[in-house]
Amino acid sequence: MQNFTFCNPTKILFGKGRIQDLAKEIPAGQRVLVTYGGGSALANGTLGEVREALRHAVVTEFGGIEPNPSYETLCKAVKLARETGAEFLLAVGGGSVMDGTKFIAAAVPFTGEDPWDLVTRKAPVKAALPFGTVLTMPATGSEMNSGAVITRRSIGAKLPFGSPLLFPRFSVLDPEKTYSLPPRQIGNGIVDAFVHTVEQYLTYPADAPMQDEFSEGILRTLIRVGPRTLAEPENYEARAAFVWAATLALNGLIGAGVPQDWATHMIGHELTALHGLDHAQSLAVVLPAMLEERFEAKKAKLVQYADRVWGLESPAEAIEATRTFFESLGVKTRLKDYGVSPDAIPALLEALKTHGMTALGERRDVTLEVSRRVLERAL
Ligand code: NAP
Ligand code: FE
Repeated sequence: MQNFTFCNPTKILFGKGRIQDLAKEIPAGQRVLVTYGGGSALANGTLGEVREALRHAVVTEFGGIEPNPSYETLCKAVKLARETGAEFLLAVGGGSVMDGTKFIAAAVPFTGEDPWDLVTRKAPVKAALPFGTVLTMPATGSEMNSGAVITRRSIGAKLPFGSPLLFPRFSVLDPEKTYSLPPRQIGNGIVDAFVHTVEQYLTYPADAPMQDEFSEGILRTLIRVGPRTLAEPENYEARAAFVWAATLALNGLIGAGVPQDWATHMIGHELTALHGLDHAQSLAVVLPAMLEERFEAKKAKLVQYADRVWGLESPAEAIEATRTFFESLGVKTRLKDYGVSPDAIPALLEALKTHGMTALGERRDVTLEVSRRVLERAL
């Protein structure tokens, strides 16, 4: 096991009716900026419950944070937060709203010229407004981690950034608030959580049996409850298991003391930025091809994955089972399914190069040449 520091300060308020506990988490009279997305939180009643629970605070709202939240939109929220003297931010939504709110939190106190420098890491995050979240979509783990992925549409860039200052103070996880998700987003959420786990587990053996067991438990849970929560969206137990699995998949626990890959995510980000695939769609396309391409380097863990997660002897069959699982959730796994043709590959590689993504993976050996072969396998 490698050395590690583990600190996750986010308080989780899990279960039915927990939105009313916001009243205890946010002091009376505090100036709060509530952020949300394109309207689903309004339509399913979550925002109404939040308003009710925050009657004692001074609330301003900023809606319209889009999937793959954009710097352009978020800068408007930063302006509003400054104008209203916001002391606390509350994100109500999925990964996009939560990630976007992390950017707002870091950008409001930023004194440099352009807060985009925080995303490119030209400028460190030195301060951030405190914030909480009310989750409406299980997928990213953003509700219990300190990372965010921000898109700058004008230059076609989608980049990750983070800081220990960007953990939510608390997150409300009420599985019932996710019942209104359409099948496409449920499938997306299961795939994203699955791939987060794989990127921290399917690397090379690191003598970390506890982390392996945690990861295998999350993967088996997603395989078991995923199809059920898709078929029965209002089955509380299945949805609750899915929500908690997605949170645990990326809150630092399974990644402590082990090598981490993330090459699938980095290539996926370019597919989203240049071709508009949903985040999880990009992962479903890249992951099986990535595992095939790096079969030898990952073989020991692939054998373990096949055995313990799928009950299979053959690692090649386990990769195929992974692809079939994603497809069974309605998430297609080939570039052609999304209208991306072979002639798109050079521009994707160019974007990876521009963003410094030329030595990815747990051994930093996923060069542009390897990425090219992965994309070709994914056609
Ligand atoms: P999302 O982009 O937040 O939401 C996707 C769609 O689902 C939106 O149209 C949203 O509608 C809708 N939606 C959300 N909750 C709903 C509900 N309860 N009922 C009905 N519709 C609902 O999806 P996401 O997958 O959670 O987030 C994706 C983003 O997170 C990407 O930018 C990805 O790169 C990033 N990400 C972050 C991390 C991290 O660690 N921070 C990890 C992985 C990925 P509305 O807009 O109307 O609400
Ligand atoms: Fe992800």
